[in-house]
This record gives sequence, structure tokens and C-alpha cells, in this order.
Amino acid sequence: METLKQNMKEKLMQSWEKRPLIISGPCSAETEEQVLETAQRLANTGKVDMLRAGIWKPRTKPGQFEGIGITALPWLLKAKKLTGLLTTIEVATAKHVEDALHFETDVLWIGARTTVNPFSVQEIADALRGTEVPVLVKNPINPDLDLWSGAIERLQKAGVQNIGMIHRGFSSYGNTEYRNAPMWHLPIEMKRRYPGMLLMCDPSHICGNRTLLQQVAQKSIDLDFNGLMIESHIDPDNAWSDARQQVTPERLNEMLGSLIWRMGNTNEPEFINALAHLREQINQVDDELLTLIGQRMKLADKIGIYKRENNITILQTSRWNDILERAFEKGAQLGLSKEFITRYFDAVHLESISHQNKIMNE
Ligand code: PEP
Ligand code: MN
Repeated sequence: METLKQNMKEKLMQSWEKRPLIISGPCSAETEEQVLETAQRLANTGKVDMLRAGIWKPRTKPGQFEGIGITALPWLLKAKKLTGLLTTIEVATAKHVEDALHFETDVLWIGARTTVNPFSVQEIADALRGTEVPVLVKNPINPDLDLWSGAIERLQKAGVQNIGMIHRGFSSYGNTEYRNAPMWHLPIEMKRRYPGMLLMCDPSHICGNRTLLQQVAQKSIDLDFNGLMIESHIDPDNAWSDARQQVTPERLNEMLGSLIWRMGNTNEPEFINALAHLREQINQVDDELLTLIGQRMKLADKIGIYKRENNITILQTSRWNDILERAFEKGAQLGLSKEFITRYFDAVHLESISHQNKIMNE
């Protein structure tokens, strides 16, 4: 018994550093047979490091399957002993943490619906004080990076040594092709805030279906994510939760096999030189762009003075439409999308207006 614990501890430390780190398993643990068979078939792929399963399920509406609860924890322990896979589950309360640790769960994760709530995160952090278990923090449902950072800081303050992040997409109003819009710039900003911290992608909850899984997984790899959490089920169509997005362990194996893992960095001197040269050029172009934008604002200031002297409003819609039309045309010739031109000019316009506003009210 003690040797199993020791072996798993070593395996855990190795897996935490392994790239890519692959976590898979059902959305929910349903029956002992389902958990054991999933684990066995995932282990057979030779590509999976950790078995995931939801034990307590945060459902949007009451009356849906809310998870097996503590009864399923011995199933996961059995699956671990049978296959050697590490195990991870979602926790949302101090009691969940206590139960999970009692049954030797190797890694805990905080779900998107919990990360949004500082009271819950603090309760979990307090329950983790003095333990060694690593914790993965999913992004909050809403695109608020400070909430995500806040959860990480609460865990850090409680002394949690190994913390990772899971990007599972963000809720957005209106239809998109995704269940949860990826908004890739947000996890990229988290990578900037926490350099070196494990960053995983959960394409299952981003996509909400099987068709987009592979391309979202590939995109995350191309953005230098460190691993994937993908839901798998022995009979996806009949899963008790998230049936549409789960894949069989064999399909997972195929998917993982056809993903292209790029190196985040290389030591090849020729490549490094070429890259440094191009980056230097980009820095120069950026400097020139900023200087030009500064000059553009000075012109806007001058116009502001004339408007003030002649008592004219700052905003003149027809002039602004002309500017945009000209920019769309020029942008199209240069291969710049209409979306980019719109965003860029909106930002420039706001800055101009604030400059002129200052002048008008001096
Ligand atoms: C899950 O992983 O099954 C889950 C509930 O995820 P999320 O917290 O991302 O919705
Ligand atoms: Mn799920």
C-alpha cells in the first residue's frame, strides 16, 4: 500500500513536468464498470497520464444528473491501482477536498463555476493548507482574468505548491460555433502573467461537440499550451452528461496521434539568428507606428483648437465615415481584414476624441 502511494507520488511529479500532459476520462463517473473500463482503454493508448472524472457535477438546472458523489471515489482509486493512471476530480467545497484526499486523488481541479466565486475558492484554499496536492484552476465562466488570477493567488497564499491553469473557454451572449468561446488572447495573457505555470487546454468544454475538437486542440498546441484535458467515454452517445462532446478512448488515441506537437523553442543557431533579426525589424516598425500615431494625435489636437475657436462639436459623423471607408479600401489592398481596421480605427478615434475633449475644455 505504502509503495503504491510512493510510486504514484513519483509518477505525479514526473507527469506534472511532462509535455504534453494528457488528461482524459468521462465528464461524469457513472458506474464502477464504466470508470474501470474507461481507465483500462485509456491506459491501453499509452498516451494518457491522468484519469479525470466528475464526481460532483455543477449542473445549470436542478433535476439533472448531479454526479454519483463520494461513492465513486473508491472506483477511481481502484482504476488507479489497476492501470497506474493518476487521478483527478473537480472539487467545489472543503468537504470535497477532504473526501478526495481521503481516497488518494492525485490532482484536484476547480471548475469554471467555482472559480467565479471568491468565497468558494477561499474555502477550498483553506482546506488545502498544509497538503501537497497539485491543483488545476479552470478559467471562470465569464471572461474576467482578474477572477482567474485571484483564484490562483488565493491558492498560492494558502501554500499550494503546484498550480496549473485550464483554459475551457468563456460564456458569451449570442450564438457562436463554440459552446464556450475560446477568446485565445485571454489564456495568452495568463501565460504572460504566470510564465512557466502549467497551462492546459480543455477543447471538450470549448467545443461542446466532437467535430471541432481536433482543430481546437491543434490551435492550443500551436499557441504553446502544455497539455490537454479531453473528455472520453466508453459509450459517448449514452453518457449521463455532456454526451455530445465526448469521444471513445480509441478515437482519442487517433486524435492525439494526428496532432502536430511543435517545439516551443529550439536551440538551432541559424533559426535563432533569423528570428532575432525579424523581431528587431518588428520592434523598429512598432516604434515607427507609435511615432506616427503620436503625430496623428498632434494633428487632432490642432483640429480641436480650430473646433473650439469656431464652436463646432467634436464628433462629426460624416467625416468619420469617410475615414473608415478610405481605410477599408486601403486595408483590403494590404491584406488587412475589415474587422481589424474597424477595431484599430475605433481605438484611434477614441484617443483622438479624448485629446480633443481635453483641448475643448482647457
Ligand atoms: C467538467 O470538466 O466536466 C466541467 C464541469 O467543466 P467546467 O467547469 O469547465 O464547466
Ligand atoms: Mn463535462
